[in-house]
Formats: sequence, structure tokens, C-alpha cells
Amino acid sequence: MTTTRIAYSHRLNAGKHRALMEQARRLGRVRSEVWQRYGSVSGVGLTDRQVRDRWLANGTHHQFGVLANAWKETVRDAMADIAATRESAKVQVRRAIRRRTSDQAELKRLFGLLKVDRWANDPYLSRQMRSLWRRGHNRTHNQIVVRADQHHTRADEGGRLWLAVPGLVRRQMVRIPLNTAVAPTGTLRLILRGDRVEIHYQIDAATMKTSQRPCGTATLGVDKGYTEALTDSDGNHHGGHLGDLLTAEADRIKERNRRRAKVRSVANNAARRGDRAKAERIARNNLGTIKRDRQAARHQARVRTEIFTAVHQVVNKAAVVVAEDLTKTFTGRKPLGKNTNRRLAAWTKGVTAEALKNVSERRGSALVHVNAAYTSQVCHRCGCFGRRAGDRLHCTLCGVVWQADVNAAINVLRRHGDPDITLHTPHRVVRQIVQARADRHRSRLPLPDSIPARPGGERIIQPAQQ
Ligand SMILES: [Zn+2]
Repeated sequence: MTTTRIAYSHRLNAGKHRALMEQARRLGRVRSEVWQRYGSVSGVGLTDRQVRDRWLANGTHHQFGVLANAWKETVRDAMADIAATRESAKVQVRRAIRRRTSDQAELKRLFGLLKVDRWANDPYLSRQMRSLWRRGHNRTHNQIVVRADQHHTRADEGGRLWLAVPGLVRRQMVRIPLNTAVAPTGTLRLILRGDRVEIHYQIDAATMKTSQRPCGTATLGVDKGYTEALTDSDGNHHGGHLGDLLTAEADRIKERNRRRAKVRSVANNAARRGDRAKAERIARNNLGTIKRDRQAARHQARVRTEIFTAVHQVVNKAAVVVAEDLTKTFTGRKPLGKNTNRRLAAWTKGVTAEALKNVSERRGSALVHVNAAYTSQVCHRCGCFGRRAGDRLHCTLCGVVWQADVNAAINVLRRHGDPDITLHTPHRVVRQIVQARADRHRSRLPLPDSIPARPGGERIIQPAQQ
């Protein structure tokens, strides 16, 4: 298992930056060509090696003006991107297959064809793939992929590291000063953003210090929140700064956009008056994207740290972590605020999913995905639908107000091993099951206050607001 590290260039001079930009631009054309030719059905089943051999045979590669290793690595990378879009379409197709049939033999046949990319042979699968796998286009024109044996790093007298990568001319390396004392290793992905170069590379996660820490022994359910990154079924919150980070960032973005709109209108007025020089000066100096991108990157790094720390805290206690599958796109579970906030929160969902998977694998805990439909809406004690008010869930039957996220985490935990509700039970069916259980419970109940709280439930009971 690996994890990505990023090093940055330190005061890269303009000439080198231009040279790298030019190389990245030319490699962008290589990418576009790959997407154009093999980005759809015509590329299915082809390996990047076969593409390379074809290009070498018919001379396609001559038009790009880059060194052989550079375009070959780019072909490999672009083919992997295409495969990724195909695989993500398959996730939806698998769902469609489950809706279509429950016959085990047929399921097995269809999943099998899908897996080995022989779906074109089956009319139903072919139709599904063609409608769900949209033809993509290359939008990457700022990256250079460098093979492990094509770069090296050296320290100067001052101790600064210099990374040498191939340029556009054979045997003329471009030397990039780095901001770190740790040499990047393996295959590198150079991403040119603003006036800097980001050097992305993978390291073996087993060598990381946090991977050595053992996991706990408990089985815990977790609920992903907005204010806190995670709440577990013991009633503990983790990553409590997440909400503040997101709110501060949303406020900052709104304020910045307001200022930029004002500046832009000044520039537009200047352009209208015929003062092109002023308009261009404003666009260059006041409406640039370097600072903006850097601030966004810094915010993302902080949020990642907060979320990963939260997951580590959960794994400190748990051998089994039960959670909703956050990679699935399912909206409407929790209404979120305005647009900016919603966008930021949507991004944290992916980070949480990544952190749960990554930390669990590294530290040896098991991550169990469950169907989380309605877990935030029903009372964990009686199973009835409660009334949600902010971070509270009021169960009118029990007469108890629960902390909504703790209640949800307990419900998530119970979905593990639920005999009726599996990961793939449709939403509608889950609702029927939940409703039926609540009705059964209700019919047995004499008085709301006579039910004893279940173990683990007491600590989160708050006085009923009646
Ligand atoms: Zn209840």
C-alpha cells in the first residue's frame, strides 16, 4: 500500500519554468491524442505497450517533439486515466445489473463480462456501458511524468536538494531546487501550478510512523459530520475543528469573490474606455490565480490533517470500523448550507472515505461498509422516525432528544450484521423495513417512559424538551 507525498520547487528560475511548461504543453498534446484515439470503445482491451508499439510503427510519435521516454510515460499515464473513467462507469453499471436481476448465475455472468472488459459482447451490458461511460477529453496540459530511472537528486554545498529531470533536449537535464530535504523517489508526476512545480510521488505506507501503531479492539460505528469529522457510537467526537475550518474557508472565499468582482468591474470599465493597458495590468496583478490556488491547497492540507487525525483516533479504539460507503454518491441525507459550504463539505466526504480506507489498511483494522439509509432519521432505541432539529433528533415515542450524530453512529453500527438490510438493499425497501420494525415496536409499547435505555444509550440521553 502506498501514499502520495508532494515536494515543491523553491524559487525556480523563469527560464527553467518556461522550459518545463513547454514540455508539459507538448505532452498535453500526447494525452489529447491518446484520449482521442483510445478514450472510448476503440481503446478497450488495448495495453499502453500496444499503443506505444503502434505509434512507433506508424510514426505518430514524431509530431510531438518530445523525448521518447517522456511520451511513452505519458501514454501509459493517459491510458490509466481512461481505464479509471471506465472503471467508475462500471460501478454504476453494477448497480443497474443488481436492479435488473437477482438470478445468481446471471449476476455472475454479467459481473464476469464486465470485469474482464468483454461487455461489448453482451447487448444489455454494451448498452449500459455506452450510456454510462461518457467519452472523455484530455484537460491536462501541465503535467510531466518521469520514470524512476530518469531522474536523480543531489544536494549542493548549502544542503539544498536539486532534482534533475529530462528536458526537451537529450542529455540536458533541468535542475529544480526543492523546498525539502527528502529526495522524491520512484515515478514522479511534475505538476506545474502558478510559478511553482509540485513533485508528486508515492511512498510505501508501511514505512510511515503512523502505520506502526496497532489498532484497538472495539467494534465502532461512525457517522460523518460537518462540524466534527466523525462521531463514533460510543458518543465521542473526533476532528472537532472541521466545521470551523470549513466555515472560515467559505467566508474567505465569499469575501475574496466579492473583492474580485469589484476589481473585475474596474478592469471592465477601463477596457470599455479603451484603456487596454490598465485592464491587462489589473488582470495580471490583481486577478491572478497563483495566490488563490496556494490558499486553496493550504486549506485542503489542513482539512486532510484534521480528518486523518480523527480517523486515527477512531482506529486507536477500534478493530472494526463500521461506516457508510462514502464513495457512493447519495444526496439528500443531510441538508447542508449554501453553495460554497456544500461544495467544501462534498469534498471532505471523499477525503473521509480515503482516510478510513487508508488508515484501516495501514493499521490493520477492518473497515465494514453498511447501508446507511435512514440511520440519521430513526431513533436508535425504538426505531421510530424522529424529528430532526439541527444537531438534535427528537423521538416523540420515547420522548427523548438524542444527539443526532451519536444516534446515527449507533444505528450505523447496528446495520453491521442486520439480517434484512444489506449494502445493496434499495433505499425504498430500507424505508419499508424500518417502518415495519417501528410499527411492531410501537404496537408492543404501553407507555413511552417505561422502556429501559439500551446499554451504551444512557450517556447521550438529554432531557426531553416537552
Ligand atoms: Zn424512540
